Formats: sequence, C-alpha cells, structure tokens
Amino acid sequence: MDYEAVIGLEVHAELQTASKMFCGCAVVDSTQAAPNTYVCPICAGLPGTLPVINAQAVNFALRVALALHCAIPPLNVFARKNYFYPDLPKGYQISQYELPLGVNGWLEIDTASGPRRVRIRRVHLEEDTGKLNHAPTPPGAPPAEDYSLVDLNRAGVPLLEIVTEPDLHTPEDVKAYAVQLRAVLRYLGVNGGDMEKGVIRFEPNISVRPTGAAELRTRTELKNLNSFRALERGTQYEITRQIAIWNSGGQVIQETRGWSEAEGRTLPQRGKEHAHDYRYFPEPDLPPLALDAALVEAARAALPELPAARRARFERDYDLSRADAELLIEDPALADYFEQAVAAQPANARRPKVIVNWLIGELFRLLNETGRPLVAAPVPPANLAALTALVSGGTINANTGKAVLETMFRTGRAPAEIVAEQGLAQVSDAGAITALVEEVLDAHPDELATYLAGKPTVEQWFFGQVMRRLRGQGNPQVIRAALAAALTRRQASA
Ligand code: ADP
Ligand code: ZN
Ligand code: MG
Repeated sequence: MDYEAVIGLEVHAELQTASKMFCGCAVVDSTQAAPNTYVCPICAGLPGTLPVINAQAVNFALRVALALHCAIPPLNVFARKNYFYPDLPKGYQISQYELPLGVNGWLEIDTASGPRRVRIRRVHLEEDTGKLNHAPTPPGAPPAEDYSLVDLNRAGVPLLEIVTEPDLHTPEDVKAYAVQLRAVLRYLGVNGGDMEKGVIRFEPNISVRPTGAAELRTRTELKNLNSFRALERGTQYEITRQIAIWNSGGQVIQETRGWSEAEGRTLPQRGKEHAHDYRYFPEPDLPPLALDAALVEAARAALPELPAARRARFERDYDLSRADAELLIEDPALADYFEQAVAAQPANARRPKVIVNWLIGELFRLLNETGRPLVAAPVPPANLAALTALVSGGTINANTGKAVLETMFRTGRAPAEIVAEQGLAQVSDAGAITALVEEVLDAHPDELATYLAGKPTVEQWFFGQVMRRLRGQGNPQVIRAALAAALTRRQASA
C-alpha cells in the first residue's frame, strides 16, 4: 500500500528580550554563562513572589503573530500548566492555553510542487524551563552513577510556541517551513535562530496514512532535533518506521520520541499526554492581557520587510533566480551585505549576479574555512564590489581575483591596493602576448609537431605554458585568440 506522511510542527522560539518573561533577570546565552548566575527568587520559583508580564516579550510575540498573518484575540489569558520536572522550579509553567496571542495564521513555503501556504493554528507566549546538565560526578561529591545538575539561567526566558495545522507531507516540506519560519523570526529581530544553542527548537508531529485517505492516524512527536539535517533525517526515519509498523499489521502508539544523531534513529522517550494531565487553570497571579486594537495596529504598521517580500524584490529588482534570492534572504545580515555590495558597484555597471557568485562561491568558502560569520568578515561589501569591478573591467583575471580575495580576507585591505603592490594587473597587451606565444611554440617543437599531426588538445597545454610565463596574470581571452591565430599560421606553413 502507498502511504503519505502527515506532519504538523510545534516550534519553540526563545524571545531575545532584555529580561525574562516575568522577572528582571537578564536573558543570556545559556550555553556560555556560568550556571545559575542569572536567577532571582521569581524565576527560581520561591514562594511568595509575584510574576510581572514583560511588555517587550508581548510586543515581540505580537510582531511574530502578525507576521504570520494571525488574528489577534483582544484578550489573552495566562494559565498554569502543571507538571513535575527538576528543571521546572515552580512545578508549573506559565503558558497560554485557551486564549493564545495569535490564531489562524499562515506562512508560505516553497515546495517541489510550487509555493504553498502552511496554516498556523496558534502562537502563544510561555516561559522556558531551566536546563539539566547530565554531568559526571562533580568535584567533592560522593560517587554515583551520574549526576544531573540544574541550571536555572534559562528558566523564565520568554518562549513563543508556534503550532501549525498538519499541513506538511515530506521531510523537505518540514525543512522548508523551518527555514522560512526561522528567517521570519530573524527579520523581526526576536530570535537569532541558532538551533545548536537551542534558542529555536523544532518538534514535528508525524503520522502516516494510506495515500488519499482523509483520516488522521496516530502520531508521534519528535524531540532533540538540533540542526536542519537532524530535522530532515529524523522526520524521514519516523515516516519509514511508521509505514513498516502499519505494513506488518502493527499499531503505531502515540508517544514522544527522541532523535539520536549518533545512532541515526528515533527512540521512545515518554508516552501519550493529554491536556488534562496538565491540569491547566488560569494563572491567579496575572491579570488577563488586553491587547487593544490601536496597539495591534501600531505593531502591524511597524513590521519590517519580511523574507518573502524581500525575496520577491530580489528576484524582480536584481533579476536573480528564485534559488539565488532564497539563499540570500534567509539570513538578513547576508541579504544586507549583498544589497550593500550591489549599491557599491558603479551605477552604470551593476551586476548583482556577479556579486552573488563571488559571495556564495569564494567568500563563503573563506568564511567556512575560518569558521567566521559574515558580519565579522574583514571584507566590507564595498571591497567585494571593487574586486568584481577589477575582474569585469579586465584589470585582473578571475583566478588572480580569487587570490586577491584571500589576501583581502587575511588583511582587510582594499583590492586595488593589493593588485598595485603585488603587480598583479592582468597582461592584456595583444602584441606582447603574440610574441610570447611564438616564443613558446618555438621552444617546444615536439609538442608543436604532435599538434600539427592532429592532436588539438595540445592547444590547451600551450595555453598553460603561456599563462605560466605570465605568472598566471595573462588575460585568458587574449591568450586564447593569439594562440589560435599563431597555430593557424603554423598549420598553413607546415
Ligand atoms: P498537543 O498540544 O497535544 O501536542 P495538538 O493537537 O495541539 O497536540 O497538535 C500538535 C501538533 O501536531 C500540531 O502541529 C498538529 O497539526 C499536529 N498533529 C495533530 N494530530 C496529528 C496527526 N494525527 N498527524 C500529524 N500531525 C498531527
Ligand atoms: Zn529572575
Ligand atoms: Mg505536543
């Protein structure tokens, strides 16, 4: 039987506000800060403390909900979601349940069969939990199998949960949605998108059903996916696993499963939970949150250009392919860099595609090799533009250009300076090059004879010899033309 997958995504994104959701503690990089250094009685869950709603978090959440085309209910209510876990000091999480901040939105993604809208069921505000570090025995502690150390720096960090309808059907869809959503959050300036640090966490709910059927079968939920690759692989694994179960006459059971990157498979974590297990009730320490229409409209008016609009503009104004535009817009810093570089090209010689090629080909290679982010690249956009102008204008050839870029990257200097200082300017003088070609032909009578006897590939070898004598700085077009002409003459006189 043929099966199709049905997938809905739950996404948790920390909001990068100055302070936590209900207290004044700073929001810090929880993979860097010393454990338990940003904790107060409120986020530590001590009795007798009172939470206060963070206005910036509400504003950030509102921006996201609006960017995702959600309707904004005029009244939001926070609820207590009760459960016990050592990283949850209060014994409950403050979350939104019946009245979330945003409902019924959508996000457009690119799929193999064209652009498609993924419906968003809800966007709600809550607080993150602390972290458990499963550590070896700490110094001075009595020996035990293992220890779990609690770090509350992350406890109480504003968290946004974004839940889709089950509208996705392949691991590629899931990735496309995740990439697009992450881009939106970055453009809104509310989340840095670093999956390895766990500031954004994607959790697919996956089921399979006979192709064409309308029913939804039992789903599993996947956790611990800390890269796009893991998200795709984990989803694919789960689809395959469930199809095999149904095909062998078994039953998929509803559970939460974890992805093991090392083993390349999913493993059961815990069984089915029902909403009633959490004994939700309205948070008695917080008033309902009224979002009046004026506030919502002000937030809507303040939305920046979003990734989809920017991609469309890149395709239109810079005449880029959809794939190039898609790649550029994903990271706003990259898109900004590109636009600045194009703006730095002379107005009568704007060549956006040339910038894309140097940026994605050469500059990315150098960034990857050094592990630096683009914002820290010692090559400002104007310098990259200047380099492309030197190549397009024929001052240097493309290969020399690559070498110059490496020097630019190492030293932060401008390309023209490097070219002048190292004498890298391309040799384009047709007379000089013709003389050199003749010299090379005379110096290699055997190879010339082979060529004349009918082996045209020797021409490329001659080209290499000439280029070598020019220390790689010859103008390839001029050399090729001079060489072809000289060989024709030799042929005629042979
Ligand atoms: P819960 O809050 O209990 O985790 P929800 O019903 O809110 O469950 O759904 C969570 C996510 O799972 C949503 O993205 C939803 O679209 C998706 N989902 C629900 N049922 C299924 C199913 N049978 N197959 C695939 N995805 C599903
Ligand atoms: Zn605190
Ligand atoms: Mg769930």
